[in-house]
Amino acid sequence: MKCPKGGNFSNGELQRFGNIELSPSAGILNYGQGLFEGLKAYRKEDGHILLFRPEENALRMRLGAERMCMPSPTVEQFVEAVQATVLANKRWVPPFGKGSLYIRPLLMGSGAVLGLAPAPEYTFLIYVSPVGNYFKEGIAPIHLIVEHELHRATPGGTGGVKTIGNYAAVLKAQSAAKLKGYSDVLYLDCVHKKYLEEVSSCNIFVVKGNTISTPAIKGTILPGITRKSIIDVARKEGFQVEERLVAVDELLEADEVFVTGTAVVLSPVGSITYLGKRVSYGNEGVGGVSQELYSVLTRLQMGLIEDTLNWTVE
Ligand code: PMP
Repeated sequence: MKCPKGGNFSNGELQRFGNIELSPSAGILNYGQGLFEGLKAYRKEDGHILLFRPEENALRMRLGAERMCMPSPTVEQFVEAVQATVLANKRWVPPFGKGSLYIRPLLMGSGAVLGLAPAPEYTFLIYVSPVGNYFKEGIAPIHLIVEHELHRATPGGTGGVKTIGNYAAVLKAQSAAKLKGYSDVLYLDCVHKKYLEEVSSCNIFVVKGNTISTPAIKGTILPGITRKSIIDVARKEGFQVEERLVAVDELLEADEVFVTGTAVVLSPVGSITYLGKRVSYGNEGVGGVSQELYSVLTRLQMGLIEDTLNWTVE
């Protein structure tokens, strides 16, 4: 669907997947006016398809659009467009337990603009792809390296919204980490260089006894929908959850560390390397807490337990 600057999106249409045409001076290509979302559709045992909290993605896109000077679809338009796209592609939703359909909504400044300014026209589109597990290890532990030179976000910047440029900013550190055999990079804050921020595409949690701590949302990390869901699930399961500044030193004392995100769902961290020192977590990181929370969340997402919180949409 399309929308002029300052206008509203009109209803969209379904098209076959294919290349799209853009002016070389489109706002997204020149000034990075682009935002995306990521969510998954799971097939239930009875064959029905479930979406997990799609209105949260819609709200996050609206917040991001405001920061990036873009109009955005309404929550209803967003959710309806996701549902229509999934319905049209339902044969691509993997069988129960065999993966999911990854859904990628994309909002961009598609109009041509030469001098620095918001684009005169915007396009919202959605494409989908069946996926298995994100990390090649599946739900097995991942191995992280703390990055102490490069940062993905600065206070006052755009780190808290899902804009395309944030991902270009992590490619260098992430590629270097992968070449060295790590699964991903853990970023620190750029002011004190001692507080945990997040991983390239997921949020981080540190477990110590009955307390689970996670960096607070303060504009430099993405407010993950899995993060928010895990906080609620953990509290319901009787854990104390703290959203606060979490110092990198706390990793040394932690019982377990895990990351959350739509792609990774919940992955335990087996080890973290910081300034050349490697901290490993017991049982290769697959601890009782990560296992318990993973199990509750995935059973909810796949429709295996009653959804008392109304998080899933058929
Ligand atoms: N942080 C970043 C930078 C991300 O790209 C993602 C993935 N969207 C997350 C955290 C996790 O967010 P969510 O749980 O909504 O997928």
